[in-house]
Amino acid sequence: MENIVIIGAGLGGLSAGALLAKEGYRVTILEQHGMVGGCATVFKRKGGFTCEVGLHEMDGVYTSPVIKKVFERLGVYENVEFVKPDEFFKVSTKYGEFVMPDGKIEAITALKSRFPHEQKGIENYFQAIGDIAGCYKKLVDLKWSDYLLFPILFYPILKYKNKNTAEVLNGFMDDEELKLILNTNVQYYNDTPDTLSFLLHAVAQNSYYEGGGWFIKGGSYCLSEYLASLITCNGGNVITKADVVKATKESVTYRYKNEEVTIQADKIISDISPQDTYRLFDMEFTEQKQIAESIITVYLGFSKSLRELYPDGAYSNFLLDSFGSQDDFKAMAKQDVTTKDFVFVDYSRIDSGLTSDEKSFGAVCVLDEIQSWESLDAEAYKQKKERLLEHVLERLEKHYPKIKELVEYAEVATPKTMQRYVRTPKGTAYGYKPTPQQFFRKPKIRSDKIDNLYFVGQFVLAGGFSPAISSGSMCFDTIVKGK
Ligand SMILES: Cc1cc2nc3c(=O)[nH]c(=O)nc-3n(C[C@H](O)[C@H](O)[C@H](O)COP(=O)(O)OP(=O)(O)OC[C@H]3O[C@@H](n4cnc5c(N)ncnc54)[C@H](O)[C@@H]3O)c2cc1C
Repeated sequence: MENIVIIGAGLGGLSAGALLAKEGYRVTILEQHGMVGGCATVFKRKGGFTCEVGLHEMDGVYTSPVIKKVFERLGVYENVEFVKPDEFFKVSTKYGEFVMPDGKIEAITALKSRFPHEQKGIENYFQAIGDIAGCYKKLVDLKWSDYLLFPILFYPILKYKNKNTAEVLNGFMDDEELKLILNTNVQYYNDTPDTLSFLLHAVAQNSYYEGGGWFIKGGSYCLSEYLASLITCNGGNVITKADVVKATKESVTYRYKNEEVTIQADKIISDISPQDTYRLFDMEFTEQKQIAESIITVYLGFSKSLRELYPDGAYSNFLLDSFGSQDDFKAMAKQDVTTKDFVFVDYSRIDSGLTSDEKSFGAVCVLDEIQSWESLDAEAYKQKKERLLEHVLERLEKHYPKIKELVEYAEVATPKTMQRYVRTPKGTAYGYKPTPQQFFRKPKIRSDKIDNLYFVGQFVLAGGFSPAISSGSMCFDTIVKGK
């Protein structure tokens, strides 16, 4: 069987590696960090806190045909535990609070009851996202006859492929609060609805409405670690602290404990960006695609369980207090991060396995650009982090009175932190910015420049757990079928 060398142990690399190792390929996965997982990992802090680096909610766990196929094949359902919050999200805006229930029918019912004057618009919106998602499911297994009928079978995709989310919603409905609510979690994908492809919005939101958003008990590292264990159990190698510094068609060279090691490769899979990959091959890369924003996260450890003290809270709490319309995301994108609104994830609302029952863990997240941190000297960087933490705690205090007194641990991760750990361009976790112009494209699994080079991860389909795992599955199919 062939030697497969994988650069980067994010979810894309790990999924492809686990599938190929199980199929009998000799897999070696090289990860520069001391742990596998990339964005899908945890870190530990004093006081018994296991801090989830990123995962709020993964979509498609039991409903995406691709994820199901991968998880069944790899025994993930038997070895990794998924837990689901009671609701999709809670949002507070200048109009008040709204809880989006779990489940599509429940969501439609709640929206119609809050916005009785927008019944038609709500129906049309859910019809459109369902139709688009249905088309994308069919795209996975295209038969030759489908190509002939493409304009008919895939009409919803063609209809919306150049549209952004804000303009489509403006076409469906007038109520600004409703449009804002439907865009509450836009920052799971992009900074503003007017630059977000409606196709991505539709596929991802439909998946959350239909199948729910899931957390991994114990943290996302449990999934990453399990996938890595499948590689070693099937005769492969998982090498951490292995920094890949060079590649040719036949070999990959990595730095390990101050030494350079070169290994032979029949096929190479890259879980890092195309621009960084071609740099390893010493090849010019001229493609000019816009990279998605990075993320700021404030990790918070609490001395008590928030669930007990604030029973009205939810798991994903979008505190968009100053927002009156979907256009406000545009204004926020230009604001300094120390004044931005954000989402607060309260992991005590689920059986997260991250802390003991008396304590709890939470995370605040908002998108931000690395540029606003890069030019700061060490002192200014530290002060900005402190200002951000102060702003976050002040805002939380309004929704969770006296929460400050419960904070036992707090730490801010900036786009520079992200870049240091996962080494993505601009510290992104979402690959290319999913604008209408960039999102609708044929995923490039196989390189068109080097015939034994393949790509997986956030730059193939989109950012997110399920797209990264799906890219691993697509890469596996491409290699096994010899395409
Ligand atoms: C704060 C945060 C919150 C998020 N929330 C969610 C969420 O709720 N739901 C969701 O679905 N997604 C979420 N995501 C996004 C999701 O985690 C990522 O899109 C996905 O995990 C990326 O997977 P990947 O395969 O592209 O690998 P990456 O995670 O990008 O990992 C790439 C790996 O390559 C390694 N590497 C880089 N260069 C080299 C080199 N030269 N040699 C060796 N190794 C190298 C890196 O160290 C890294 O481990 C979040 C991400 C973050 C950061």
